Amino acid sequence: MTKEQIPYKIYLEEDEMPKAWYNLRADMINKPAPLIHPGTHQPMTLEELSPVFCEELCKQELNNTDPFIEIPQEIRDFYKMYRPSPLIRAYCLEEKLGTPAKIYYKFEGNNTSGSHKLNSAIAQAYYAKKQGLKGVTTETGAGQWGTALSMACSYFDLDCKVFMVKVSYEQKPFRREVMRTYGASVTPSPSETTQIGKKILEAHPGTTGSLGCAISEAVEVATSTPGYRYVLGSVLNQVLLHQSIIGLETKAALDKYGIKPDMIIGCAGGGSNLGGLIAPFMGEKIKGNADYRIIAVEPQSCPSFTRGKYAYDFADTGMVCPLAKMYTLGSNFIPAPNHAGGLRYHGMSPVLSQLYDDGLMEAIAVPQTEVFAAAEEFARVEGILPAPESSHAIKVALDEAKKCVETGEEKTIVFGLTGTGYFDMVAYEKYHNGVMDDYIPTDEELEKYFATLPPVE
Ligand SMILES: *Cc1c(COP(=O)(O)O)cnc(C)c1O
Repeated sequence: MTKEQIPYKIYLEEDEMPKAWYNLRADMINKPAPLIHPGTHQPMTLEELSPVFCEELCKQELNNTDPFIEIPQEIRDFYKMYRPSPLIRAYCLEEKLGTPAKIYYKFEGNNTSGSHKLNSAIAQAYYAKKQGLKGVTTETGAGQWGTALSMACSYFDLDCKVFMVKVSYEQKPFRREVMRTYGASVTPSPSETTQIGKKILEAHPGTTGSLGCAISEAVEVATSTPGYRYVLGSVLNQVLLHQSIIGLETKAALDKYGIKPDMIIGCAGGGSNLGGLIAPFMGEKIKGNADYRIIAVEPQSCPSFTRGKYAYDFADTGMVCPLAKMYTLGSNFIPAPNHAGGLRYHGMSPVLSQLYDDGLMEAIAVPQTEVFAAAEEFARVEGILPAPESSHAIKVALDEAKKCVETGEEKTIVFGLTGTGYFDMVAYEKYHNGVMDDYIPTDEELEKYFATLPPVE
């Protein structure tokens, strides 16, 4: 088809937007391993999850049977403010590369939070409000999740307490101030405001914090403050469920023009955008109705899929959360200071971990400087300044499109462009000044972290 037939931007009409999320777990033959209790190692029940998470979200977390879960009207109304997100045909990039490949990307950076995270934040805030809660607590690393959640909470008049990894709190004042603009309170973690924070500070006085540590603090506050629950922006089954809106829209837009992708590529931190993007395609693949190459891209500095172990592990440093079976680098793993804040988590979504273990998807780890080179190559022709996280997917999409130049194959490539990079200009600066490194952990280092995995039969 020609440019006249397939537009640069494929939008859906409002009435073509998905009315239900797709729960891929219902169609998975091998279900993801359940969350288990850190003490008893038994699967977590609804009663055990409910003091931590909102009731309806606990049900979604445990639901492995319903393939579709209706999106409440209030959430659909909010989605309409910034969705459907465009599926863009990268004609300019194709031309620049001289590739016969057809490249499409689904752009999720068109809202003020700047990333896909708002898709789940608004759902989680809605269920908290519906339950009559006063507020929610959470952690944020670089700040994208905290930003999305603070927007969602202000919409529903909920209090939002964010524990922000201390080093980011100090180095990323802009994200912090966006969150405060939306009315959230932002505390640098570890802090003196929680028992676990005090304990961590006593043991490591100068620590600049970590995601695992901020999670422990946020969970402690949620479970000890009446009317509060904890919410998480990635990894969990419920978050992948909400993010299926990305994949459903992508599929509907492609179907509208009869386009069948050969490969679907996305970056993977905790796995939520990728899990959402691939959901309907993976569903078809599992049922044998179609075949796609599905590729997760992660940083070489935090290689959960490509070098991690598939095992039960702690989700947080304080070891207060349930254990999850996932590809993990160990809960004490602290990646070298790379600049893709959203890809620094030690573990990977249990859903994606199971699919990867079943050989239904691939994973590639890429070095940081090559990611920024790809980001620039893309930015210079496509008119979007991509987030460093998203640029991991760009890197592999470009590599695949360049292979097609050599082979002459007209592959159709779809990738997820999860967000914008305006708050990441310090990282771009480091890249431009040639002071960005490509630290890769050694096997010995990783072994040290694997040794701390909990013994679970
Ligand atoms: C958080 C984030 C990611 C990674 O998170 P996933 O849960 O793996 O999707 C990717 N891109 C952007 C822009 C993010 O903010």
